[in-house]
Amino acid sequence: MTDRLTIRRPDDWHVHLRDGAMLQAVAGHTARQFGRAIVMPNLTPPVTSVAAAEAYRGRIMAALGEGVDFTPLMTCYLTDDADPAEIAAGHAAGVFTACKLYPAHATTNSAHGVTDIRRLTGVLETLQRIGMPLLIHGEVTDKAIDIFDREAVFVERVLTPLTRDYPGLRIVLEHITTAEAAAFVAEADHPIAATITPQHLLINRNAIFDGGLRPHAYCLPVLKRETHRLAVRRAAVSGSPRFFLGTDSAPHVVGAKESGCGCAGIFNAPFALEAYLRVFDEEGALDRFEGFASEHGARFYGRPLNEGTVTLVRDAVAVPDRIGTGETAVVPFMAGETIGWRFDG
Ligand SMILES: [Zn+2]
Repeated sequence: MTDRLTIRRPDDWHVHLRDGAMLQAVAGHTARQFGRAIVMPNLTPPVTSVAAAEAYRGRIMAALGEGVDFTPLMTCYLTDDADPAEIAAGHAAGVFTACKLYPAHATTNSAHGVTDIRRLTGVLETLQRIGMPLLIHGEVTDKAIDIFDREAVFVERVLTPLTRDYPGLRIVLEHITTAEAAAFVAEADHPIAATITPQHLLINRNAIFDGGLRPHAYCLPVLKRETHRLAVRRAAVSGSPRFFLGTDSAPHVVGAKESGCGCAGIFNAPFALEAYLRVFDEEGALDRFEGFASEHGARFYGRPLNEGTVTLVRDAVAVPDRIGTGETAVVPFMAGETIGWRFDG
């Protein structure tokens, strides 16, 4: 039995670092484990300009302090009015790594999102031409569609025609949760990849209703039934370079979760690698963990692999019930549970 695993330093290809006091509180958790992270732009207001992204990047680095070896990769939040010239200039300047497409009202702070992808023709043509990835929250927002079906319907109604219309457009389907999404990404004759969160690998939708309503198991896309969790797990450990690590760590202060209308999002950054490694361990796929965590994403984004390594050790680690205090008190993923691995730096 392997009790100690050393891998090349990994990256988190999807994270919400928030802003202000919460940014101060959470940024270090991500920087401790990962060399780089794709930082989501859904602030209030969203990050839609090069200047806003540069300023946000500065606040992230200031929150981390001197001497921390971490690179935040910034993204541009797409709106109906997104300007292709601004996006291309930001990409050329090394500020924008990718664009993020939120269908309007799909998730936290997405009210400014795109109402109809056909309004983005100029942007999509530009992204395709300059090789800049489009990151997609892949859910339809049609209220007539059952919330558990919104990703599968998105794949059929939006993603399939999108890949046909823009055959060279590099796409990351974010935080996939269904067998349909996993199959599409695995099989498409298209430059497409997907990120996978720890929660969608470890728990299914029963967790939301386990003995009562469990707001800390609520995220978007919402957890799905067991068959989908197993399909996503198979994709993650398959060794396919199209699947890689993206935590979607999304902290909300406790009161915003434990509420009559609780926010969507799971804060998994403090024990992210440990949680993922548990999955690969259970699946007998420890030899594929490094590809998923440290190689596939960098290659898809055309970035060099990180220098340096991290080590995880088999150990009983208890996840605390709460991390932080006051306005930054957050309940972490797997609170109160024991993970079988410890991050050793
Ligand atoms: Zn997200």
